Amino acid sequence: MSDPRALSVLQRVFGYESFRGDQQDIVQHVIDGGDALVLMPTGGGKSLCYQVPALVREGTGVVVSPLIALMQDQVDALTELGVRAAFLNSTQEWRVAREVEQAFLAGELDLLYVAPERLMTDRCLELLERGRVALFAIDEAHCVSQWGHDFRPEYLALSMLHERWPDVPRIALTATATAATRDEIAQRLALDTARHFVASFDRPNIRYRIVEKNEVRRQLLDLIRTEHAGDSGVVYCLSRARVEETAEFLCNNGINALPYHAGLGAQVRAGNQSRFLREDGIVMVATIAFGMGIDKPDVRFVAHIDLPKSVEGYYQETGRAGRDGLPASAWLAYGLQDVVQQRRMIDESPGDEAYRRRLGQQLDAMLGLCETVECRRVRLLAYFGQTITACGNCDVCLDPPQAWDGTVAAQKVLSAVYRLQQRGQRYGAGHIIDILRGKSTERTRQHDHESLTVFGIGADLSDQAWRGVLRQLLAQGLLMVDHEGYGTLALTQDSRAVLKGERQLMLRRESEKKERSRGTQRTRAEAVDLPPEAKPLFDALRAWRGEVAKNHGVPAYVIFHDATLREIATAKPETLEDLGHISGVGARKLDAYGEDILRHVAQG
Ligand code: ADP
Ligand code: ZN
Repeated sequence: MSDPRALSVLQRVFGYESFRGDQQDIVQHVIDGGDALVLMPTGGGKSLCYQVPALVREGTGVVVSPLIALMQDQVDALTELGVRAAFLNSTQEWRVAREVEQAFLAGELDLLYVAPERLMTDRCLELLERGRVALFAIDEAHCVSQWGHDFRPEYLALSMLHERWPDVPRIALTATATAATRDEIAQRLALDTARHFVASFDRPNIRYRIVEKNEVRRQLLDLIRTEHAGDSGVVYCLSRARVEETAEFLCNNGINALPYHAGLGAQVRAGNQSRFLREDGIVMVATIAFGMGIDKPDVRFVAHIDLPKSVEGYYQETGRAGRDGLPASAWLAYGLQDVVQQRRMIDESPGDEAYRRRLGQQLDAMLGLCETVECRRVRLLAYFGQTITACGNCDVCLDPPQAWDGTVAAQKVLSAVYRLQQRGQRYGAGHIIDILRGKSTERTRQHDHESLTVFGIGADLSDQAWRGVLRQLLAQGLLMVDHEGYGTLALTQDSRAVLKGERQLMLRRESEKKERSRGTQRTRAEAVDLPPEAKPLFDALRAWRGEVAKNHGVPAYVIFHDATLREIATAKPETLEDLGHISGVGARKLDAYGEDILRHVAQG
């Protein structure tokens, strides 16, 4: 039976007409006291799954979240909606914490956000026991997975909530989980009897593209200038140094970019994060330390300029684009050097053999995605155990790559490596390509490589094409990066079959059209759905929103989303009642801002 109170809260407090997807079932299940494990992609609408039951059930909903730096924003956003929310974490003065504790005990809080390490203190556990807990929401639940990319040891202790509060429902939520991670979450959080709600992980508004890397910073700049000028975006890099240099490069080229990585002081990080959330059009250049829990709805692109380590992490990161459902880009540039570097990092990583094997498998899956001639989205979702048909909104669908018979080319590469190995020598990709192309260099002369029978047998392909061949051989395990380091290449068990002509090898070649058509298919969202005559009102409303947000010290989207302003600008409501029907306008906001908005509408 569905509880009428749930729908009423959704409409009155949040201003939304109806639940989406599984939301209603999840909300009902938790209101009825059941445990739940919720898997929904970023932007799917997880927060309402615990916020609505917390408002319906008696007591306070306790939300466990690792994202201390975002708690203030989360609480501010709820306060704007008229929800009584607060947080407890280490950034607070004890006096403030005391007030929050008092409010909780007095039953004056609907939602209380707590960091896991704080929750586990005796003081906090006793506090919760003295008050009334409506539910426990465990956000970012994948942090409990030791194999995952965001492991937080504090999460392991959360299984005790169940023992201490057997009657309080628990709802664990995450945007990332393969079947294996999901089982791990259920097991570690003791969610044995929890109902699993697995939503579709598809994010159809995100256009996936994976391009061959050549001059990556130029390519990135190109992407931003031609498709995302003035947009908010995130650029992910593998290392701190690369973050710094890329942010500087973008700034020097007129892009409003900021760096973010764990090596920056806490204050600088918090400052940059806050600017990214509050200002329009900032490009955050970051390591993967950035982004979890950032619920900025209008991030228009996520670019990776280094190869991510796993598909799971990659999907989580790209999912931060386009939470508002409007068109957005996920763009990844990858090349030969990425494969060499990552294979090397795995070899050198601490940890046992099983751990390294696992890293290797994750990398292989990522490489498979990069080299596929199949729809990217089909591949991505298959990784999460979901089946769809070709999407029509990825580079492969829009511009299919060609497959070509690379058997002979591969044999040339492998025999070059073989000849060098026979001489007891190993080299990196660059030198091997020089030999194949017959390029005379100091090294080829010095080591007498010009007398090799393979010298110059590959003059028919360009440097770039050879790099593509080597990259794919590495990706397929037909070449390996030497254990001794330095990125030198060696044959593998599987190389022999190719060398002996027992195995045909189809390789992927980027369609040439793709390079040329870059930038013509704009993914910008601004103009979507907005008739030209509505534009002046939309702009006026945005300006008004900016003022209000500044006065309240919150990001603009906390006041209203672009989508809500767009709807107002098109529908031009004349009465408070009409305005109240617009998605995203709840009772509290109608009360606070209704008159202002109507005045703007009246003025046209
Ligand atoms: P997640 O936490 O899963 O990434 P959010 O909870 O932030 O997603 O929701 C994503 C966006 O969708 C938010 O802007 C939210 O307000 C909106 N949203 C969620 N549920 C609904 C709904 N039932 N109707 C309309 N908008 C919704
Ligand atoms: Zn596709």
